[in-house]
Amino acid sequence: MRIIRNSCLLLVGMFLIFSLPAEAQKKKKKKDDTEASEPKKEDKKKTIEEETKKHAKMDGLFTIYQDSTNGKVKMAISEDQIGKEFIYFGQVKDGVLEAGAFRGAYDGEFIFKINKYFNRLEFEKVNTRFYFDEESALKRAEDANISRAIMASEEIIVDENGVYLIDANNLFVQETLTQVKGSGSSNPRAFKLGSASKDKTQILSINNYPENLNVAVRYAYDNSAPKNYGGSAVTDARYVSVEVFYTLLEVPENDYEPRFDDPRVGYFLNQVTDQTSPSATPYRDLINRWHLKKKDTNAAVSEPVEPITWWIENTTPVEWRETIKEGVLAWNPAFEKAGFKNAMVVKVQPDDADWDAGDIRYNVLRWTSSPNPPFGGYGPSFTNPRTGQILGADIMLEFVHFANRVKYDKIYNLAANEEETFTPQFGKGNNKFCNYGDFMQQNMLFGQIAAGINAGDDMAMEGIKKEAMIELILHEVGHTIGLNHNMKASQMLSPSELVDNNTGVLTGSVMDYVVVNVTKDREKQGNYYSTAVGPYDVWAVQFGYQPFGSDAEMDELLSQSTKPELTFGNDADDMRSAGKAIDPRVNTGDLSNDAIQYSIDRFETVRSLMADLKENTIDDGDTYQELRQNFSILSGQYAGASRVVSRYIGGVYVDRAVVGQEGATQPFTPVAYADQKRAMNALSKYVFAPNAWKTPNELYNYLAMQRRGYNFFSSPEDPKIHSLVLSIQNQALNHLLHYNTMQRLVDSELYGNAYDLGEMMTALNNAIMQADISGSVNTFRQNLQIEYANKLASIVKDSKNYGHTSRSIALYNLQRIKQMASNNGGNTLSKAHKAHLKLIVDSAMDQD
Ligand SMILES: [Zn+2]
Repeated sequence: MRIIRNSCLLLVGMFLIFSLPAEAQKKKKKKDDTEASEPKKEDKKKTIEEETKKHAKMDGLFTIYQDSTNGKVKMAISEDQIGKEFIYFGQVKDGVLEAGAFRGAYDGEFIFKINKYFNRLEFEKVNTRFYFDEESALKRAEDANISRAIMASEEIIVDENGVYLIDANNLFVQETLTQVKGSGSSNPRAFKLGSASKDKTQILSINNYPENLNVAVRYAYDNSAPKNYGGSAVTDARYVSVEVFYTLLEVPENDYEPRFDDPRVGYFLNQVTDQTSPSATPYRDLINRWHLKKKDTNAAVSEPVEPITWWIENTTPVEWRETIKEGVLAWNPAFEKAGFKNAMVVKVQPDDADWDAGDIRYNVLRWTSSPNPPFGGYGPSFTNPRTGQILGADIMLEFVHFANRVKYDKIYNLAANEEETFTPQFGKGNNKFCNYGDFMQQNMLFGQIAAGINAGDDMAMEGIKKEAMIELILHEVGHTIGLNHNMKASQMLSPSELVDNNTGVLTGSVMDYVVVNVTKDREKQGNYYSTAVGPYDVWAVQFGYQPFGSDAEMDELLSQSTKPELTFGNDADDMRSAGKAIDPRVNTGDLSNDAIQYSIDRFETVRSLMADLKENTIDDGDTYQELRQNFSILSGQYAGASRVVSRYIGGVYVDRAVVGQEGATQPFTPVAYADQKRAMNALSKYVFAPNAWKTPNELYNYLAMQRRGYNFFSSPEDPKIHSLVLSIQNQALNHLLHYNTMQRLVDSELYGNAYDLGEMMTALNNAIMQADISGSVNTFRQNLQIEYANKLASIVKDSKNYGHTSRSIALYNLQRIKQMASNNGGNTLSKAHKAHLKLIVDSAMDQD
């Protein structure tokens, strides 16, 4: 170590010795030059023209000069742009999942302004989350305790008649405007980008227009010794790059009128708090919507001055384009109700288009076939943060979701708890990500199995595939007009109304994540998916887009929210995860206003399809890959049904109507006793019972993946049947034994819940233990009983999360389990199992 340091010093020393004379010489020469030429020429400041010789000049919002030798840029900012607000918007041009970036990911938008500080220009990001009334004296204190974010400060190179030239290279090539490289994971084995390479990070392109400046930048990172080499999309983990599109744009000056959010309708919004209002709800949240204006203001229905124009990207499979167009235009009836004819227009990007799909001037329906599809569909939009006006939108879709392959053995690996490792760096913190395509693909494949078709082998858009495509496009386009999810919309019809239903409208809204409508009686199959907008969609578009004559007119529309077909609840309210949220009607993967019965039908349908699966799936010459995949798809449906049913236990219905609204009920109403009991009985029969698994055992002999190279190295290839079954059981169990669910059963007893914690826990104990504990216990049940006893034992110990009542009943059930297991009945494995159960109970008692 010491030797190295010394030699470094030596080198520095040598450099000084040799460089001094040269420096001195230079100075001398310069002095001579000055004396010889005209006096004081050096003092005269250079002009912009002189400073930008050998630069390409690009006129537009901010004049850009790009050095033709090294590609670096300078920017000219005029005096009238100082202090003015502009909008920033960022988007990933291309990336790789491991780096937290994928093509088309939106970074979000913000307001910034440019300030002059003596001889420098500062770029400041503006906080738009607060509002101060102009009339209030408090307005003078509007900056108080809100930090100022100065993103960059650049020296003015030339000040020429109110035009300032600055070096703008760092503004783009450094991560000034956005953070490209993530903050790092606490997991030491996580994929890591190395350090930013100055030489390899470059401006790729510049497009300058009067209203916006677009700059594409490639960020390159070097990591000489990666600990994680990433997946096959990472070409070389030592050299990874992420490409970002930046857009700086003028704040639109128009007559757009902001519209404020209402809790009964689901729009994306820019959240703004009024700091000068004495109200309990000082919200001025701006819904996101397009600036639609009637051409003919007097007409009840008119074409808009500027329609919302969609471009089908030229990467889209040709066979699909008509169906996609149909899906987009299916929104037009909703806009017509709001007073606009032909609000949506669809065009196809020419193959030789001179614009890129990342260009913000175009709203593009994009198709990619990524090695690791990041999301199942993604419909982001960006807005003017000051008004909520949507300025642009795109939709990202992945080819794989209409192909007949499940990319990874995902559903099958429920047991392995294979969580996606992708953490988005771009757009993190926004809630515009959508996973419907992925979700839909599994359901569509299920529909195909039920229909006895292998439609995924061709590219044709027909039958169930066409219905699924239209619903997916409707859903993603719905996001881009401002709508967020409505996970309650699948409650509109009864199970019997969904049978033989060919209306094209199965739910209140296309903004839900519905399970595919496969009818148990295969003779009475109608639509699998909705192919038209639902009543909620029409109503929501009216709220967002209809030009209202008065507040009363808007209130009148909103007062209809109590109609069952207009009901709404979004992701924040949905019960997809165990223990989260409270209203079981707000859920993903459910359908009908009796999701318990609908799920029971699904259990039955899966059972009957399992019986003939082998016969119906494979042909001579095939490998067994598709059989294994279809088994996974069926298991996934079973797991989904188990999850949906469990949420009714301990559930509380939520009503968000305002006080005095016609048709309103109280905000909280516990699920009826009979329904909670019905849900427990269904779980008992189809999920927990010793004979719940009807899959023919001989099917397991055939669940083989196709060999590919050495791909079985990471884990053995045999089907992990027991862990799969346990994972399905856990979909229910994790919710029933969640501290939120258990405590809610206790709390809600005070306001109407008749299915109390004691009754629930007794029923659960019986469902899991009673049928076989005195004799032989099959291996699925052994797994379940041990899992359950372990969960009870951890509840007893967990005073941090569980209330006393919950811990007491867990303890009580453990004692009962010990009694029940105190027999020596059954085969050897069953005896061993009972000894194990007793040990779990004893250990739980010992501790504390
Ligand atoms: Zn969505």
